[in-house]
Amino acid sequence: MEKISVKNARDESSIGKTGKLQGWVRTRRDSKAGFSFIEINDGSSQGNIQIIAPADLENYESEIKRLTAGCSISAEGEIKESGGRGQKTEMQAAQISVHGWADPDEYPLQKKRHSMEKLREWAHLRPRTNTFGAVARVRNCICNSIHQFYQEQGFLYINTPIITASDCEGAGEMFQVTTMKMDQIAKQQIENLNYKFDFFDKPAYLTVSGQLAAETYACALGKVYTFGPTFRAENSNTSRHLAEFWMVEPEVAFNDLDDNMDLAESFLKRIFTDALEKCGQDMEFFNERIDQEKTLIKRLEAIINTEFVRLPYTEAVEILESSGQKFDFPVKWGIDLQSEHERFLTEKHFEKPVILFDYPNTIKPFYMYCNDDDKTVRAMDVLVPGVGEIIGGSQREHRLDVLESRMKAQDLDIEEYWWYADLRRYGTVPHAGFGLGLERAVQFVTSIGNIRDVIPFPRTPGNAEF
Ligand code: ATP
Ligand code: MN
Repeated sequence: MEKISVKNARDESSIGKTGKLQGWVRTRRDSKAGFSFIEINDGSSQGNIQIIAPADLENYESEIKRLTAGCSISAEGEIKESGGRGQKTEMQAAQISVHGWADPDEYPLQKKRHSMEKLREWAHLRPRTNTFGAVARVRNCICNSIHQFYQEQGFLYINTPIITASDCEGAGEMFQVTTMKMDQIAKQQIENLNYKFDFFDKPAYLTVSGQLAAETYACALGKVYTFGPTFRAENSNTSRHLAEFWMVEPEVAFNDLDDNMDLAESFLKRIFTDALEKCGQDMEFFNERIDQEKTLIKRLEAIINTEFVRLPYTEAVEILESSGQKFDFPVKWGIDLQSEHERFLTEKHFEKPVILFDYPNTIKPFYMYCNDDDKTVRAMDVLVPGVGEIIGGSQREHRLDVLESRMKAQDLDIEEYWWYADLRRYGTVPHAGFGLGLERAVQFVTSIGNIRDVIPFPRTPGNAEF
């Protein structure tokens, strides 16, 4: 018998079809007229489908009347027009079989609403809730948009390493990767570790960014992007940081910072457009049930149709200094802007996405292109209301002598980066790129407040459960 997804069965075009629906029970109601309504969901859509179970089913008394939330069933029958509110269709079941029971005294996802914090403790079951089902579908849609956006423009998807031995990118604290046994090392109280005994013969780490490797491919193939897991051992317990997150990093040869800003802006707009177009029902759900002002869809639509502000760091500092706003961290030229400053600019002052650029060279990594003022580098951050920084990027320094002097100034070992310097030694070209944190994008699109709730199994300080 043909399987029908709940999503398809909910559509009027399925009326008259006979087939099999399979999923997990959300609710069961018994009518006085001697039959039961069973609502099931199978993950294919936000909405459930109602199955009418007549009392003459052979297992009606023995099984159907014992069904509770979380039980898994298969139902065969015909899809009919429904008289019920909020649904166009329902199934008239001719046969229902039960795959698995869920003891109502133990199953955690009963009808009552649980807090997001509580649901994190049941991260293995939370995808069965409306909220987490919707997050999973929107996250999937965004991943698909990411690939489509770049593929349509001829970018090559490349896979950069996850284990890296150059302690390089300077983007954050790294997790070390080793096969040496920590407990034995501790027992023997070894003071001077010899990495000759470690797997890679030298210290190795989990990558904090695929950028440097992506640059090598951009400087050969033109337009590339990498999209994979990245790791940062920052001990920051915020609602915007994970220890393991996914990052999309396009890198383009012959691009300068303006091209880079154009790419970032059109990229974000594409993601938002696709989410609204392809996940309509889930986006309605976020708008009504998650967003505090219930204006999420309107805000996203407005952003798609607006030009992002492009503002040099120096002007941003002037705006902040003359804002009359009290900040925990005082503002002056040269500081690394804090989240409170970024949020002020994008949420209060401009009330739309802002691309800040040309940051002081003292707060940015060695690989960013130096401006003629000798004080700033061609860095950019894209800030959005509610989330703050969603993208960080730059035009890269492609002049070998400047790169080397920047590395010296930051006390980096030039020898370590010999291959990175080679890109500047042989056929160097201007190039630029950025990184978008996938989870920050999902947060923005869904208005989910905490980043731990937009990834299936969050890794944060003290938490690697599941
Ligand atoms: P932040 O200042 O917010 O800590 P960052 O400047 O360290 O971020 P970048 O190195 O510029 O971040 O990384 C590029 C993008 O990756 C960021 O704009 C953000 O979207 C995302 N990102 C960075 N760190 C994290 C993290 N710990 N968890 C989730 N996403 C992150
Ligand atoms: Mn950044």
